[in-house]
Amino acid sequence: MVTYNACSAKPHPETAHLSGLDVLALMRDQELEQIVALNDPATGLSGFVVIHDTTRGPAIGGCRLWSYPTAEAALEDAIRLAVAMTRKCALAGLNAGGGKGVLIDHAGIKDRAGMLRAMGRYVESFGGRFYTSGDLGLSGADIARMRETSRYVAVPDDRKLDLAGATAWGVLGGMRATLAAAGLGRSLQGRRVVVQGLGAMGARVAALLVKEGATVIAADTDAAVAERVASSTGARLVAPEDVWDQAADLFCPCATSGVLTSETAARLRVRGVVGAANNQLDAPEVDAELMRRGVLYAPDYAVNSGAITLTAREFLERRSDLRDIAALGERVEETVTRILETSARTGNPPQQVADRLADDALVRPRSTERQFWPLR
Ligand code: NAD
Repeated sequence: MVTYNACSAKPHPETAHLSGLDVLALMRDQELEQIVALNDPATGLSGFVVIHDTTRGPAIGGCRLWSYPTAEAALEDAIRLAVAMTRKCALAGLNAGGGKGVLIDHAGIKDRAGMLRAMGRYVESFGGRFYTSGDLGLSGADIARMRETSRYVAVPDDRKLDLAGATAWGVLGGMRATLAAAGLGRSLQGRRVVVQGLGAMGARVAALLVKEGATVIAADTDAAVAERVASSTGARLVAPEDVWDQAADLFCPCATSGVLTSETAARLRVRGVVGAANNQLDAPEVDAELMRRGVLYAPDYAVNSGAITLTAREFLERRSDLRDIAALGERVEETVTRILETSARTGNPPQQVADRLADDALVRPRSTERQFWPLR
């Protein structure tokens, strides 16, 4: 077992690599409720669960299995994602907070199924303070393994709900709000939209756009995926590296995180950016750069809350009436309208405005008194 010598001035040799990490300072700085480090040597489970804020209700957030250069990088990712989940839930008006599970992908994983069952036991140990499902690196079958040992895991493939479909309706709502804020009216008829990534999200958004009478210009790094969606929707394909240079009304990121950088923002020839991808801004300052260039940015977590809304309703409210996904689109449209109007009025960039609105919807706990504890 690794031992810590709290009195020694020198770090213990076995833990010297952790000496730069001040966990409590990190928690104070980010206002985190809880960090749980995960370790199951028998299977190779290693990682973190971070619970950011449960003042509105239990934390909800997926688990990802990803390779990180260091444990600190894994913890940072979990913190960033947990904070984003709190804001996403608050802005969507859900009685839920933010959390995230990060499992470190490494060569020492001896038993993947056992590791996932061990993760399920950790999730179960929160007793309903943390609900989870899948994210990057974990398949539906992996999540089903976690479900074997926890009641607080939602298995995507078990569900009749179309989470990506609900998210796509939200994306359309965000597009209507952004077009209206640009003075173009809320209709998508005759608009040109560039869709980056044609997987679960991009394909659905492209199909809805075409149905609304919009022209879709699209790209996917997987040529077969791109061809399939182009033939079913009539989207015009361009090379993935050329998406930035297309003259259009909107750019819709539906691929990976961090796609909006200073360089890509400078190339955009659109009035607004509205998409499903998480964490689209590579750095916070890109928010202001887009604003300076006259591109309206609809903050990602305000736009892509459809899936979490359905999950939270099913988990927390046990609502059977989950069909009304058009209403989800209207809710996103209202939220994005409010954000862009506030941004125009105050001169603050939209992501900053969204962060403020979300943070205002939280009551920060001065003690553990306001934290969510499930009823027994
Ligand atoms: P997916 O894996 O089904 O699709 C992503 C697609 O993007 C793939 O086809 C991939 O080939 C393509 N791609 C990757 N890099 C690209 C690039 N540089 N240029 C063009 N194409 C590229 O994933 P998804 O479920 O569609 O999710 C897309 C984004 O939306 C992710 O950021 C995800 O976190 C977010 N999101 C998804 C949901 C959901 O319900 N699926 C909900 C909310 C947010």
